[in-house]
Amino acid sequence: MSQETIFTKIINREIPADIIYEDDDTLAFKDINPQAPFHVLIIPKQEIATINDINNENSHLVGNLYTVAAKLAKQNNFADDGYRVVMNCNEHGGQTVYHIHLHMLAGKEMGWPPY
Ligand code: IMP
Repeated sequence: MSQETIFTKIINREIPADIIYEDDDTLAFKDINPQAPFHVLIIPKQEIATINDINNENSHLVGNLYTVAAKLAKQNNFADDGYRVVMNCNEHGGQTVYHIHLHMLAGKEMGWPPY
């Protein structure tokens, strides 16, 4: 299922965002409501609504999200201390934007479990 969300508008520069990384397939930008000193969303440019829509054809795009997270961690000196990446799915997972995104949170020690 593919459906345009606010993230497509960010990809297309129709609304502003603090973009910190871009390549042909992937975009990363600062979360508008940060939950950590460093909170970015790493998204595929292709519209994939939820984790349930990941398949063999698009899974490389999901792999890229983690590659970008590792790159950003090294660039921003979070690799050794550590950080968290989270992808929420549907209502019980807390998903509010239906275009998959990897939350990358860093710069403080995270608690567990989340709730
Ligand atoms: P979800 O709840 O896992 O779907 O995460 C959606 C995230 O998108 C939330 O952390 C929001 O703060 C963030 N968000 C929503 N709109 C924007 C925006 O326009 N720019 C940046 N982040 C946004």
